[in-house]
Amino acid sequence: MSLKLGTADFAKYPFLNEASKFLTESHLDVDEFNRPEMEYIIDRATIRVEVEMQGKIYKNLERHEVEVLTFLSALMLVKLTNIEQILKKHSLFEALRAEAFLIQDLRTERDEKKKQLLLFEIFKELFKVEVDLDPENAQVFRMKVTDYLVRSSHFHEEGWKIVNKAVHGGYVYLDADEIVRLVRNELGNLIYEKIRAMSLSNVPQPIVQKANYLALKFRPTYENKLPRISDYPPCIKHALDLMSKGENLPHTARLMVATYMLSIGKNIDSIVTLFHPAPDFNEKITRYQVEHLAGLKGGQTRYNVPSCSKLNSEDLCFRTLDCGEITNPLKFRRRPD
Ligand code: SF4
Repeated sequence: MSLKLGTADFAKYPFLNEASKFLTESHLDVDEFNRPEMEYIIDRATIRVEVEMQGKIYKNLERHEVEVLTFLSALMLVKLTNIEQILKKHSLFEALRAEAFLIQDLRTERDEKKKQLLLFEIFKELFKVEVDLDPENAQVFRMKVTDYLVRSSHFHEEGWKIVNKAVHGGYVYLDADEIVRLVRNELGNLIYEKIRAMSLSNVPQPIVQKANYLALKFRPTYENKLPRISDYPPCIKHALDLMSKGENLPHTARLMVATYMLSIGKNIDSIVTLFHPAPDFNEKITRYQVEHLAGLKGGQTRYNVPSCSKLNSEDLCFRTLDCGEITNPLKFRRRPD
């Protein structure tokens, strides 16, 4: 394939190995971050992490040297904070940033060869999954059914079920948004693993200072407010346990937790606090959703805790002997305070 990605692509996708080639070529040493002209890059990386911690995507885009150095600085900052929630949230929002660029590129790129190259570099090179253009319509993408099923199994919405997709000749046909959404978790994991694998020594002071600033500003303050996990039914306990580790829960699990907490009399603030560790936490959206479930917004209908059989069908039931024959988590024998 003689066609190559250009520097404009590397600015958007700095996690590609090819993108950081100029770092190798220019023999950039970590000490270079002590130079005054790097202040702009370190400040930019700090702002990028701050924006992400507020649950937003950092949208600014500059030339590729600036972007690759900012990306690298942000990885170092996050690593140095040594706070798992910051690491997870940064990985997620970096994945969302790349996702937005990739959807835009796949929708607007007129050159089919360039489009195929992007698909190859990102899907095949990074995630070992083949994605092609539909031979009859370059706005449609296709993926093998087996690859689709592996990735879509994490999604619970009806629209992702294979019966609701166009399937032909062993392929599933998808639009740009869908094909990119399918690899969001893998992209987030790729960035997460990059940070975990970093080995930092003799880090320049300007980076250390900014990392300390971020750690202080975004250190978790919610731990003491979390309810005692041991008091809840196994399904709720399991979900809270995952949440406290910064894992992303499916919508159905969030609904289960929120309706349960509302039913046992927890106030809106304390329920919103519970969702704080989620990598994609957004206070405004979470508060609206919890208020909606409480019947304070929208149709003013208060939502009930789903039944045990419904939770079982959604793979959210983690029954133990203590559950006995109960039909709803609210009937669990040890009702919390
Ligand atoms: S049986 Fe009911 S209460 Fe027990 S884990 Fe399953 S859903 Fe939860």
